[in-house]
Amino acid sequence: MLDVLVIGAGLAGLTAARVLTRAGRRVRVLEAAGVGGRLTTRVVDGYTLDAGYQVIFPAYPALRRHLDFGALDLVQIPSAAVIRWGARAEVLGDPLRDPGSLPGSLTSRALTLGDKLRVARLVAQLRAPSPHSLLNGPDETTESYLRRQGFSEGAIDAFFRPFFGGIFLRRDLGASARLFRYYFRMLVDGGTALPRRGVGEIPAQLARDLDVTTGVRVTRLLPHPENGHVTAVTSAGEIDARSVIVATDPGTAQALTGEPVSRGSLGSTYLYYASATALDRQPRLLLNAEDGLINNAQWVSNVIPERAPAGEHLLTVSVLGLPDLDDDSLDARVRGELSRWYGAGAGGLRTLGIERIHHAQYPQPPEYAATLPGHATGLPGVLLASEVTASSSIQGAMESGEKAAAILLGDLSGMSRPRGA
Ligand SMILES: Cc1cc2nc3c(=O)[nH]c(=O)nc-3n(C[C@H](O)[C@H](O)[C@H](O)COP(=O)(O)OP(=O)(O)OC[C@H]3O[C@@H](n4cnc5c(N)ncnc54)[C@H](O)[C@@H]3O)c2cc1C
Repeated sequence: MLDVLVIGAGLAGLTAARVLTRAGRRVRVLEAAGVGGRLTTRVVDGYTLDAGYQVIFPAYPALRRHLDFGALDLVQIPSAAVIRWGARAEVLGDPLRDPGSLPGSLTSRALTLGDKLRVARLVAQLRAPSPHSLLNGPDETTESYLRRQGFSEGAIDAFFRPFFGGIFLRRDLGASARLFRYYFRMLVDGGTALPRRGVGEIPAQLARDLDVTTGVRVTRLLPHPENGHVTAVTSAGEIDARSVIVATDPGTAQALTGEPVSRGSLGSTYLYYASATALDRQPRLLLNAEDGLINNAQWVSNVIPERAPAGEHLLTVSVLGLPDLDDDSLDARVRGELSRWYGAGAGGLRTLGIERIHHAQYPQPPEYAATLPGHATGLPGVLLASEVTASSSIQGAMESGEKAAAILLGDLSGMSRPRGA
């Protein structure tokens, strides 16, 4: 009999399975779709498309513990952004990491001199404590925290809203200031990066040497406390294990365990465009400072040319939420906004695909962490491993997988690691 059955091959499930397999347990992962959960990559007409636009924070402690960065071939994204007001664009960045951003940063209209000094003060303040301690302490919305720091209206609207909107998947800066401080620190420590061959390389690396069966959906869990095992009813029959780790999305985890673990969903929408001409040579993240559907965009092929066929260009546009528009109307509206950036050249863009992700993250308002579930469930022998026990992030999902595995192994050092470490 299996020691542990893991349900779901996202980052939480794969990390749990990896820790347990390395500790000598007999582990199998059952996955309803393909390996990776929310981190997948596909090739369309020779373009390598990640599901959505998701960057990696190389400073995430859990990533560093489990992944071989060399084999991932991480490509650093410039530590700067381009703020766009229609045709007008301004580069803003960390001149130490991206010297090319210096002239724009010095003359910036979005950030006043006072704002630049406040950024420097924030870097100094948030660099000193351990990263995980930033997830503790007083909480409030990110917007109220930034205002208390004295940032100008212009800086909040033109930079923080679209930049952190792209991370929290909400532009209102209503997410927890603790999380803001943690992400800010991750940015200071390691910037952002993309695996050259796509974000799907991350789960693929974690899954190597694991027993993973894809295309099998688990529909029910039947614990047998009298003989110490659990039966999982699946689309391919029944399977028994001594323990089960439920590592699905929170909604499915709630249905399988009967525990009220779901914390709701933030959806987001992505449009992928191909271009035969270079409309923009910019490798930096593009932020829309105006009202509109576009929150941010990235010429992915300007960072990683191999993501597009030779001589071609790939643009990914992020729209926050799930607009109530059919694909054609959404595409037309986004093209309209892009034509304000690029003029008639935007007419030459070819739409490669539109993707609506219904559960991209769960909302994380102030004090959200105090409301999160633990790993135990009411079903004997069944544990939870998911972003929903930690934070809606790559770090949170992996850390949750590690802790569920540590509980089964009775590993006190793994269990006592603080959130975010
Ligand atoms: C567009 C987007 C942008 C994001 N941006 C960031 C970011 O900038 N930084 C960051 O850190 N995080 C970001 N995230 C969040 C991060 O990707 C997730 O928090 C994390 O990947 C969740 O991992 P998980 O293992 O908990 O869940 P999932 O990845 O959802 O994995 C769950 C798995 O369970 C499987 N499953 C479900 N039901 C069943 C069943 N009944 N039987 C078998 N298998 C089942 C699913 O198919 C899936 O593979 C983003 C996510 C998205 C989608």
